[in-house]
Amino acid sequence: MAFELIPLPYDYNALEPHIDEQTMRIHHDKHHAAYVSKLNAALEGHADLQSKSLEDLIKGLNDLPDSARTAVRNNGGGALNHNIFWHNMHPDGGGEPTGPLMDAIKTAFGDFSSLREKMNAAGAGQFGSGWAWLCKNSSGDLIVKATANQDNPLTEGLTPLLGVDVWEHAYYLKYQNRRPDYLEAWWNTVNWEDVAKRFEN
Ligand code: MN
Repeated sequence: MAFELIPLPYDYNALEPHIDEQTMRIHHDKHHAAYVSKLNAALEGHADLQSKSLEDLIKGLNDLPDSARTAVRNNGGGALNHNIFWHNMHPDGGGEPTGPLMDAIKTAFGDFSSLREKMNAAGAGQFGSGWAWLCKNSSGDLIVKATANQDNPLTEGLTPLLGVDVWEHAYYLKYQNRRPDYLEAWWNTVNWEDVAKRFEN
């Protein structure tokens, strides 16, 4: 087994009431687990790829052999995106960032509420399944963008700092069709320490 399912860094019910326990159980134990096991299945017979990091696989997606590329895009992307997502959240999350990250947010978006609006619009406006991201580009500037399915900004040369999963499996049990309500609630979980660490790397 080249890749392993990371444990959730908190209890399944730790993000209540914003994200419910049942959603977290199914999301981590079934959906995330499936991406990891399908990635491992896809890499059988590709010893050279099994030894790479998930980040390097996704960064170098376009250089992978045809026999592995689509499976790595979908399942390696799914594995990596959820690794980021779980750590981007914390039971004591929410509020606003401080320090250099906040300075960069103000430079890029004007103020924190404008970042929220841009992320919410990217997440709510993503047709079908995907993610909304706060990313750092190669110049160190912050941008917001949506990606489809399990695509990760790393493939486009961007560094993902903060991602929110807008697949229906991320919110439907509690929020049904109300994706904007899920996004509003999700802000109460954001682990700004984790986002700042990714920004400063
Ligand atoms: Mn998901």
